[in-house]
Amino acid sequence: MKRVSLTPAVFHLSDRVNAVAPEYARQPIVPRGPALKPILDRLRGKVTDQLEVSDTHEAVIISSSGSGAIAATIGSCVDDNGFLVIANDVYGQRQADFSEQLGIKTVTYSLDFGVKPDLAEIERLVDEHGIKTIGMVHGCTSVGLLNPIAEIGAFCKKKNLKLIVDAIASIYVEEIDIDKCGIDALICSTNKALHSNPDIAFSVIARDYLDEMAQRPGRIPYLDLHKTWQLQSKGSHPYTINIRALLEFEAALDDFNERGGLTARINMYRDRLAILRAGYENLGLKTFLREGMEQQNIGTALYLPEGLTYDSLADELANWNNGDGECYEIYSAQGELSGEVFRIFNMGEYPLDTYRRFINALETCINKLLKG
Ligand SMILES: *Cc1c(COP(=O)(O)O)cnc(C)c1O
Repeated sequence: MKRVSLTPAVFHLSDRVNAVAPEYARQPIVPRGPALKPILDRLRGKVTDQLEVSDTHEAVIISSSGSGAIAATIGSCVDDNGFLVIANDVYGQRQADFSEQLGIKTVTYSLDFGVKPDLAEIERLVDEHGIKTIGMVHGCTSVGLLNPIAEIGAFCKKKNLKLIVDAIASIYVEEIDIDKCGIDALICSTNKALHSNPDIAFSVIARDYLDEMAQRPGRIPYLDLHKTWQLQSKGSHPYTINIRALLEFEAALDDFNERGGLTARINMYRDRLAILRAGYENLGLKTFLREGMEQQNIGTALYLPEGLTYDSLADELANWNNGDGECYEIYSAQGELSGEVFRIFNMGEYPLDTYRRFINALETCINKLLKG
């Protein structure tokens, strides 16, 4: 039985990415000197080339999940004037929590989940607290919505503020114009829309920002991005880095580029969403939407139908067996919305028919539970 993952972050990957581990097992690579340098050089170049920021930004790569890059970026980038975090989902709240735990002066602009942030309120908070750095999330995975980075980026440019964006759920599947949005640090990982394993995260940081960061040590010793960048620009890394995961990252990025890059990935996801969202509508499922906030391409947040619990639905789908050889893992909502909303993601290497079969399974399971 193939357990199809309709969850964020771990799902089936391409043969090309999966081929890396057995090859690496035959010949592991020592993460030092002559073997590491060409890999780091190639990867760092491919990342900034794909984002079209080779002239202005540098990629700094670490071994961790996405949250490690959130901590590293906040701890390394934010100056002592403090950090204003737009927290309208779980991951914005995470930025604020990390920042506070790091002892940074943190001002949290808390909103109900998914509610569009208000520029006038951001301006008021910036002026009141003398903040020079804003943190926000682009793809709000916990609610399936996109924050308006272009609008807030234009505001940051006008006010000469640094902008740090968590793009973990949007890189490689949403348009991100780093230059136009004036993004100084873009936080990313390899295991969402890029379709690699969850072992590598990275931050894409403006060179002039890195120059400023040279004047203050990073707040987390192991996750000091300026120090890491200095070494990576010479082809080394301060600690052991997972080379197998770096090679999987490269295989996924090559695969992504050769299959048509960002436009093709967006179209691939939109084709899936066309099947899925039509199916939800047919089933009368209500989508979690908020005014002024567009939907993400990686998935959809839906209200649980009246009389149905998330656990019972997830359980039915996980035990689905109609002879097609597939069962399905879905995801609950996080934080304040759990109990009310559930989520279905459409990442990973699955054919369109899988999504058609899933909609059929979803319909059968919901009907069975509501009758039973
Ligand atoms: C998945 C995700 C993260 C990181 O989660 P990890 O579990 O640490 O990989 C952070 N921000 C957003 C927006 C995400 O979707």
